[in-house]
Amino acid sequence: MEIAKRYSIAYKGLADGKHEFSFDVGRALFESFDCEEVRGGECRATVAMEKSQSALTLDVRIAGQVVVECDRCLEDCALPVEYEGRLVVKFSDEIEEYDGEVMWIPAAESEISLAQYIYESILLSLPYRRVHPDGECDPAMMARFAVATAEEFDRMEEEAERRQAHGVSGDDMAKLAALKARMESDAE
Ligand SMILES: [Zn+2]
Repeated sequence: MEIAKRYSIAYKGLADGKHEFSFDVGRALFESFDCEEVRGGECRATVAMEKSQSALTLDVRIAGQVVVECDRCLEDCALPVEYEGRLVVKFSDEIEEYDGEVMWIPAAESEISLAQYIYESILLSLPYRRVHPDGECDPAMMARFAVATAEEFDRMEEEAERRQAHGVSGDDMAKLAALKARMESDAE
């Protein structure tokens, strides 16, 4: 609720015409959506809003960076964020479903939260493949987790299970579990 408020625009009392807003985006926004893939970040969202009697047109620009897990070495990796999009908000008591471009809100509303829009826009702007630039991966992590094939992964898993019987740290198991989850999602 607090997050929704932090990214909201109270448009009711504003004159028709152009207005500008800006919002800082940090880790708290991603946490509020239980987003595990983004570990942190610093972005700025600027919104150029055109208000009319029946709608708001919001031109949103988001720039900055987020920290995600590197697909190759699993260490933190900063990715640039560069997003530009337009959101149209229409006031109506006949609410239609948000289709990615037009959002409908009840005529009696007085403010709109952009928390979800900003959050989703950042995630959508990230590349599918999230890796450090070549040569910048953590070599120690690469040695342990640069798994190319499912066979190799199975072998590692067996190895880990075998070692677990002899006492392996929970940290290793957690990283292996994360790797496995990623491989499964890649296979889809
Ligand atoms: Zn890396």
